[in-house]
Amino acid sequence: MDEKIKLFEEMKKYGFEQVVHIYDETTGLKGIIVIHDTTLGPALGGSRIWNYESEEEALIDCLRLARGMTYKSSAAGLNLGGGKAVIIGDATKVKSEAFFRAFGRYVQSLNGRYITAEDVNTTTEDMAYINMETDHVVGLAGKSGNPSPITALGTFYALKGALEYKHKSDDVSKYSYAVQGVGETGANLVRYLMEEGAKDVRVCDINKKNLDKIKAAFPQVKVVDPDSIYAQDVDVFVPCALGGVLNDKTIPTIKAGIICGTSNNVLLEEDRHGDMIKDRGILYAPDFVVNAGGVINVYHEIHGYNRDNVIADIKLIRNRVIEIFKIADKQNINTQKAAKVFAENRIKTIKEVRSNFVNR
Ligand code: NAD
Repeated sequence: MDEKIKLFEEMKKYGFEQVVHIYDETTGLKGIIVIHDTTLGPALGGSRIWNYESEEEALIDCLRLARGMTYKSSAAGLNLGGGKAVIIGDATKVKSEAFFRAFGRYVQSLNGRYITAEDVNTTTEDMAYINMETDHVVGLAGKSGNPSPITALGTFYALKGALEYKHKSDDVSKYSYAVQGVGETGANLVRYLMEEGAKDVRVCDINKKNLDKIKAAFPQVKVVDPDSIYAQDVDVFVPCALGGVLNDKTIPTIKAGIICGTSNNVLLEEDRHGDMIKDRGILYAPDFVVNAGGVINVYHEIHGYNRDNVIADIKLIRNRVIEIFKIADKQNINTQKAAKVFAENRIKTIKEVRSNFVNR
């Protein structure tokens, strides 16, 4: 995206519906809410507080993230569109009840077209303040709860889908794994792997406490150096730490035949690095399909939260990644691109299904 963006051209090019700039005089709240596409339902996306260097940078980030949510929710089979809010400021200084209530009033003014949630630098407590002014907020305390175990479970099913597709067997015990990062999602994923009999699980982390915890729970797990994680001679590389780790430097060193982990934006440059992975014959399970557990979890808050229904939806991720791998093979495109085709097809089809008038 060009640094000096022309907003209406950008909206036209990528199909953004609405961009709202908000400012509250009393609290100094400054933010942007972007609604990308509401074909499938209300635009859901978290509210992020970040000390952006410029308003331009904040706008570009919000546009990118909102569009990403459209793809994520569509590919997850949810009746949700994509949206996002960014609030400009230092999260350690700006937060207060009034600040979030002012924000909540702007969310309410969109009358349900946008539903907010937690994101970077916002918490369930902040959502409770927002909820004093609007019902269009999810991720509240006492409802869907911590998303990390659910995200890890979705990733586990995606991993099984990838194993099935590549090796015609999703028996987890037959394969070896290198897990980068054993924080909230990585540790849960290791647990699911161990529970299904995985015998060779190698992990790394830069946080010793997290490594100690995983060793205490599963002494048979092998700890390796963070720099050596890419070149581990294993069947599956499982990135659960940072974004951008699949890049020019790391991709040539990867020995695993499958990449599937919880990390967001794991490809440094989507198109180029997606192609590089494809050319190396590695099966990459697209991040936004794999890690949709969090959004699936909060989605269920909107319709009355039921854990069994959530788990049933999470299990669908397995066959969804297989469907995406098939699209990639058929069209000879990388799997990240195929995931976007899959998401776009669903939006296009539902738009067409709704083209005739029905009185409701
Ligand atoms: P986390 O902070 O709990 O865990 C990340 C772990 O990675 C930490 O233990 C950290 O020390 C480790 N780490 C950081 N840099 C590392 C490095 N260079 N090498 C090895 N380890 C390193 O975060 P999380 O919630 O588990 O999220 C992990 C990824 O999954 C992120 O990209 C996040 O955006 C994505 N994600 C998380 C969720 C969720 O529900 N938590 C949902 C969707 C996507």
